[in-house]
Amino acid sequence: MELENEKIESKNFIELIIDKDLEEGRFDHVQTRFPPEPNGYLHIGHAKSILLNYGLAKKYNGKFNMRFDDTNPTKEKEEFVESILKDIKWLGADWEDRLFFASNYFEQMYEAAIKLIKKGKAYVCDLSPEEIREYRGTLTEPGKDSPYRNRSVEENLELFDNMKKGVYKDGEKVLRAKIDMTSPNINMRDPIIYRVAHMTHHKTGDKWCIYPMYDFAHPIEDAIEGVTHSICTLEFEDHRPLYDWVVRELEYPNPPRQIEFAKLYVTNVVTGKRYIKKLVEDGIVDGWDDPRLVSIAALRRRGFTPESIKMFVDLCGISKSQSSVDYAMLEYCIREDLKAKKPRLMAVLDPIKVIIDNYPEDQVEWFDVVNNVECPELGTRKVPFCKEIYIDREDFMEEPPKKYFRLFPGNEVRLMNAYFVKCVDYKKDENGNVTEIHCTYDPETRSGSGFTGRKVKGTIHWVSARHGVKSEVRLYENIVDEEKGKLNEDGTLNLNPNSLTVLKDCYVEPNIADVKPEDKFQFVRQGYFCADLKDYTKEKPVFNRIVSLKSSFKLPK
Ligand code: ATP
Ligand code: MG
Repeated sequence: MELENEKIESKNFIELIIDKDLEEGRFDHVQTRFPPEPNGYLHIGHAKSILLNYGLAKKYNGKFNMRFDDTNPTKEKEEFVESILKDIKWLGADWEDRLFFASNYFEQMYEAAIKLIKKGKAYVCDLSPEEIREYRGTLTEPGKDSPYRNRSVEENLELFDNMKKGVYKDGEKVLRAKIDMTSPNINMRDPIIYRVAHMTHHKTGDKWCIYPMYDFAHPIEDAIEGVTHSICTLEFEDHRPLYDWVVRELEYPNPPRQIEFAKLYVTNVVTGKRYIKKLVEDGIVDGWDDPRLVSIAALRRRGFTPESIKMFVDLCGISKSQSSVDYAMLEYCIREDLKAKKPRLMAVLDPIKVIIDNYPEDQVEWFDVVNNVECPELGTRKVPFCKEIYIDREDFMEEPPKKYFRLFPGNEVRLMNAYFVKCVDYKKDENGNVTEIHCTYDPETRSGSGFTGRKVKGTIHWVSARHGVKSEVRLYENIVDEEKGKLNEDGTLNLNPNSLTVLKDCYVEPNIADVKPEDKFQFVRQGYFCADLKDYTKEKPVFNRIVSLKSSFKLPK
């Protein structure tokens, strides 16, 4: 039937704008870009921008440019170029051979400034930064013309040339666009477009001592590359008239257009570079990729997949109004992604030894266990069972409350994939901690044997004490708690002291011999885990909990 194949597609507002532009012939193709400043690591918000820009290019059979917006030499570092490219590649956005650096266009930007001067649309201004601020006016008061506003073209050309030659000190002179000091939009009150800065640039070295301002450089970069839709975040909405002014005055034949959307904010996480830098410097987190952070590198190390991030970003949607998205939605996405894809293993995080008194001392049985009941293609594995096993401490109670169906004195439970066992005795140390549990097993009850004699209410997981692989497991909570207030009164982060728990004596069933860093699986009943990208070794396995299994999160309708 025809109808069934027809998917109803709802488009976001950016797609509607693009459709209209193509229909009306404003553009005959689509070209987008992702333009990070190489001054830090990318975070989940940037992921949204990357996937949006890349996704639009794909959807419209267009082009996607990767461009470093490296026009500001103060904060930029080469190391960030590498990390940013690595993160973008990992996310799956492919720029092919379209990698650009805005600093490659310095010459063209300089020419563009000359063009404006010649048109009488730019002038060199000698006002000090404080004076420029004073002359600019306020939201309620218009600005005043600079006394240097009416310099002749010749004088401006000469002074701008001197700026370029290094005749002036930083801040001594600037080049300003000549627009309108009375404009209701402060960005249009003769904005600075070039400044003197005697600084070494990571790519161009000391070739330049004048650098273009962002609002002037960005539209030129877009225009040079043939970008059609320059997508940025809402704070640039008021800059759009200047963007349009620049491309219009420079007479680009098919000028790009700027479209703004709302930034992505996520609850209970920290994205501000300033805060993260402090957390790193204070040693509270283990670098920019600490699994409690939401830099792309941190999400990856925690065990999030590109697919889960894409799902998250798609669920968030694109809008013009600012809002925060619940971190639980990100967790929902990774569960959805992993649940039918990854094998399930047994792991004991807080072990107590169980001795099965009537099980033969030297016997080992290998049970065939299905790797993931939701995904038969993942096959089966062999899990060893013997007289001594570990179970999790919370699966045993000396004096259980009502409705506790796990192990307690006299009670019988199923050991997952194995036998029924009954607790007959237990030992405690001088502090009252249970150190050892004794059980008996019933050979008739072997899992898969079709035994129907009696039922038990509880099933618990276990790991053979003789075969289990001792491992470290790291459990996480949110690094800040939104409800309690993200910030303290003094402006510092209100940190959750329990954001990291390191368990050093965990036991994982031995089927992890081939595990590599970044491999992911479910530990039954415990959650989804990822072999740590940095610290996992065969000799000392380290697993990060990505997310627990339970959630109160409901997908918004
Ligand atoms: P931050 O200060 O959070 O690091 P930024 O805006 O300084 O962000 P840029 O390198 O300038 O970082 O950003 C590159 C691109 O990513 C820009 O187009 C910007 O609009 C976009 N971007 C940054 N933060 C977010 C966010 N939270 N949600 C969506 N897009 C974002
Ligand atoms: Mg920035």
